[in-house]
Amino acid sequence: MADVAPLVRIEGLYKSFGRLDVLKGIDLKVQQGQKISLIGPSGSGKTTLLRCVNYLEEPTRGSIYIDNELIGQRQVGARRLPMGDGELARMRAGIGMVFQRFNLFPHLSVLENIILGPLKVLGRERGEAVELAEDLLNKVGMLNKRDAFPEQLSGGQQQRIAIARALAMRPKLMLFDEATSALDPELVGEVLAVMRKLAEEGMTMIIVTHEMRFAETVSDQVVFMADGNIVEQGPPRQVFRESQVERTRAFLRAVQEH
Ligand code: ADP
Ligand code: MG
Repeated sequence: MADVAPLVRIEGLYKSFGRLDVLKGIDLKVQQGQKISLIGPSGSGKTTLLRCVNYLEEPTRGSIYIDNELIGQRQVGARRLPMGDGELARMRAGIGMVFQRFNLFPHLSVLENIILGPLKVLGRERGEAVELAEDLLNKVGMLNKRDAFPEQLSGGQQQRIAIARALAMRPKLMLFDEATSALDPELVGEVLAVMRKLAEEGMTMIIVTHEMRFAETVSDQVVFMADGNIVEQGPPRQVFRESQVERTRAFLRAVQEH
């Protein structure tokens, strides 16, 4: 695996908002099919890192490559020029993102929410898009809600639809930003189950989560971030059970007290 080019390569990534330095030199590789959990205290830069990966934020410095392609910019000789909107949209189409808030379109049915991207961005035929959407609805256990509207669904159901919508773009990478944090506790499990299934099917995933049990059992690698740096990275057992890093241990103790 080591000699295979990583799907995601983050090199020397810095991001500042005005005077606030949020990411301070992040290096991270994600191999095809790998699941990486990103944990760390609030404000450590996890969301900003994910947002840089699909160029919702422009890095202040550093590079992110997906499939060896620089994200958001084009290298022209020694210079970097911003990508055009079309190019950026094409690139983003390969990256699925699921947020804490589901952001479904309230005026569209479940099915219409899912086929919108494939129709508008990928130029798929409607029949083909509907067929894929139904497959995905089946996968997330929501085929019977095909014609419902978002407000008629629970938070857990809406989040499963949001995952199906992201998958409808046939992404090569899925980013999850606290996908279960806004849910009532009894609805968390159904969303994690869908994420776990996706992981087992070989999807490449970067998962920001506070669900430590889930992170421990689903991930190949766990990355602990604090204050804009990666403090520790390793297999789940190393980070969760055998960490020698006091900063990591303190965080895990604080999380477990809840
Ligand atoms: P996390 O997801 O780990 O909680 P974030 O990446 O959301 O951390 O935020 C890291 C820091 O960056 C926080 O101090 C936050 O207030 C700040 N921040 C995030 N986005 C912006 C923004 N658009 N403008 C200014 N500050 C921001
Ligand atoms: Mg966040």
